[in-house]
Amino acid sequence: MDPKDSNTISNADIADRLASLAQLLSTQKENPYKINAYQRAAAKVRTMSESIEDLVRDESDLTAYAGIGEAIGSAIREIVRTGTLGKLETLRSEASPEIAGIIAYPRLDPKRVMRAYKTLNISSVEALREQLENGQIEAVLGSRMAQHIRQGLTDSHAMLLYKADALRVAVEEYLVDKCGVRRAEVAGDYRRRKEVIEDLMFVVETDDLPAVVSKLERYGGRTPLVTSSKDSAAFALASGILLRIQLAWPNKWGLSMIAFTGSAAHLRKLAALTGSLKSLRLEGPFATEAALYRQFKLAFIEPELREGYDEVRRAKENTLPCLVTGSDIRGELHAHSTSSDGSHSIEQMAAAARDQGYEYIGITDHSQSLKIARGVTVGDLRKQIRFIDRLNERSSGIRILKSAEVDILADGSLDYPDDLLRELDYTVCSIHSRFGLGKTEQTDRILRAMDNRYFNILGHATGRLLLNRPGYELDMERIVGHAKQSGCFFEINSSPDRLDLSAENARLAREAEVKIAISTDAHSTREFGLLRYGVGQARRAALERSDVLNCLPWNKLTRLFRR
Ligand SMILES: [Zn+2]
Ligand SMILES: [Zn+2]
Repeated sequence: MDPKDSNTISNADIADRLASLAQLLSTQKENPYKINAYQRAAAKVRTMSESIEDLVRDESDLTAYAGIGEAIGSAIREIVRTGTLGKLETLRSEASPEIAGIIAYPRLDPKRVMRAYKTLNISSVEALREQLENGQIEAVLGSRMAQHIRQGLTDSHAMLLYKADALRVAVEEYLVDKCGVRRAEVAGDYRRRKEVIEDLMFVVETDDLPAVVSKLERYGGRTPLVTSSKDSAAFALASGILLRIQLAWPNKWGLSMIAFTGSAAHLRKLAALTGSLKSLRLEGPFATEAALYRQFKLAFIEPELREGYDEVRRAKENTLPCLVTGSDIRGELHAHSTSSDGSHSIEQMAAAARDQGYEYIGITDHSQSLKIARGVTVGDLRKQIRFIDRLNERSSGIRILKSAEVDILADGSLDYPDDLLRELDYTVCSIHSRFGLGKTEQTDRILRAMDNRYFNILGHATGRLLLNRPGYELDMERIVGHAKQSGCFFEINSSPDRLDLSAENARLAREAEVKIAISTDAHSTREFGLLRYGVGQARRAALERSDVLNCLPWNKLTRLFRR
């Protein structure tokens, strides 16, 4: 018998066991690295296309997969052989009923929830949910705890774009290598680089869709089919989002890619020019998107623009923006070092930025008040300024800019005295506290900060953490207007769970002709790679090279920073 026909345990099941073990270990006095390792392995297993059960049966080397070491490999083999883990069962049997209830929700941190139980004098998930709904958790334990619990109790059907990147590669390989499709191309929200996606959509070419569907049902051991029709299917992936496939023929490939990439608003505006896309199936051929655009005398519309703003009209008028790309970026303006909460020294960060081909890097460690991120004291920042001057004299092939991520304090003042701020090449100023202020107060706080002549770039403007915490409410139009008037700038923070400014807010700034930095907020040399997410967001906001601060050489930039 083909072992693939007898899968009894899917990757999702295995991931659930590993995640439960991590949760239970966290209630013990276990090494946090070990707990993290189990959590990471669970996430890895959830995205893998190969059936882990098959891999174990074939005695494959599990440690060949990133995130799976010897110990976790043998735990996985035990799960496949016995359906569970001895260690997990022992901990489960020893756990109190409260803990046992909590681990049914893999994203809840049992320690934090137990603290909430104690404070609120409750002992069940049902009571927890009730207290969340009636606002008690937020009132008594604060907004962070409320967010954690809300996140843990809701079934997530959304995923951050950067997490979907690995999944996209795995699914695409599976479609081509295992399902035998002739062509598979990703479309939908993912192709438009939306920061959070709820499904992963592939356009595929095959003669045998039913065979592809039944292969996909074995993705990761087992992936349930949700719906199917004669030319499409949807599956519930273990990672929580839907996988959709759409059949397309070679001579209509471009038409299908257009039809399954654009947002609904975009497709409506397009159809107003082309007639309904469905009826175009009888015309053509439209083997490529370019062929279809050409037929209707439209310029090529980049996927990131297909949102239904003004892009169809501009394609007709041939006035589409020439979108910024990663290779236009000449330097980094937001990066941390070991002086505050970064993992690499100033020299290491500078060397990595130089290897990336950058001309400059600004070191923006946290300011004195941000104790939680080891904010730099006034005295230490003065020393750091002299240290960077000496490094630059030695000329290491990159200019290191003296800067800081300066906290905007509750009253709108900046967290360093002016005579120190003056010594910096520029500043990034951000809010890291008092998120709870009302919209007007929070807006006024930022406007007051911008009145300081040493304020240059507003860091992660709204403080949002995607899928975790909404941004504080701001009157962005007032802020953009004030920035324009006082010569301040914005950033798109490329950290995949921030991407702040949002594309919408970045559009507002661009329309007011206020330049925007695309920054990574790197806390290690590895994180320079996050730039592509910020660039994707900038492209969604229709930014051109001339709209982006760090596409300028330093000699031009320094003039903009002097107010
Ligand atoms: Zn920050
Ligand atoms: Zn930062």
